[in-house]
Amino acid sequence: SKVPPIILNNGVEMPQLGFGVWQVPDDEAERAVTTALEAGYRSIDTAAIYGNEEGTGKALAKAGVARKDLFVTTKLWNADQGHDSTLRAFDESLDKLGLEYVDLYLIHWPMPAKGTFVDTFKAFEKLYADGRAKAIGVSNFLPEHLETLIEATDVIPAVNQIELHPHLQQLAAREYHAEQGIATEAWSPLGQGKGLLEVPAIIAIAQKHGRTPAQVVLRWHLQLGNVVIPKSVTPSRIKENIEVFDFSLDTEDIAAISALNEDRRIGPDPATFNQA
Ligand code: NAD
Repeated sequence: SKVPPIILNNGVEMPQLGFGVWQVPDDEAERAVTTALEAGYRSIDTAAIYGNEEGTGKALAKAGVARKDLFVTTKLWNADQGHDSTLRAFDESLDKLGLEYVDLYLIHWPMPAKGTFVDTFKAFEKLYADGRAKAIGVSNFLPEHLETLIEATDVIPAVNQIELHPHLQQLAAREYHAEQGIATEAWSPLGQGKGLLEVPAIIAIAQKHGRTPAQVVLRWHLQLGNVVIPKSVTPSRIKENIEVFDFSLDTEDIAAISALNEDRRIGPDPATFNQA
């Protein structure tokens, strides 16, 4: 494969770069995921709430890639938190994806006001024990949520998928994850492509390497050790975003990008986001 793996805390290999499909309608998802698989992506990141598990599953089924070579992530939506509702929602996701197991199942948001993420994760532990989720983890968990979870359950989450890009570098979270053996996965790794890819420092580094700003930002993540899941529906960009394993940033480049941190979120704050 084009994409080297990282090893999760349970020994499972996860490609360090995958394809995200948030905001891609179901019918378009089939086309976009097919393009991504043709370009060499093997890891796909979807979620029940994205409404495109079926389109994603169709693309996976027709790709002619062996199941063991794919890495499929989906996420439990907030309204389904709780032990029994989690098990039902998981069955529905598997059914829509047309799969017998997922590689990674994530709690989409902690929803601290609901107080159900521990019960939810206990259901995840059953799915993991049954081999229907090869790894289990969380998304948008703050260190304080992870502490509560780790205290109350047996399996340490393999992954925490959080908003992370040069304007929100998440130093404290990354350090906590590293201490606990939790892989950090970056959502919106390109900062959703808006202002970030026009920052002069990033453009300068791109010109220096004969690369695009998106490739430079992805390379920064990879060299930090983050898992990344850039999204695009444009075939040329889908290809561009995986062509990042044949060059490296030097320490000066990394330092210049690391200087761009503003601790600025695009998405909701997990401490207060409780929307089901
Ligand atoms: P992203 O940072 O991947 O940016 C995607 C946007 O950047 C595209 O829509 C396009 O406008 C632009 N873009 C992509 N490639 C480009 C290129 N090569 N050149 C120029 N512009 C380019 O943002 P995202 O979609 O928000 O995040 C990626 C994935 O992360 C999602 O698809 C989803 O799978 C996941 N995600 C998870 C959560 C969560 O709560 N767990 C939240 C948001 C996103």
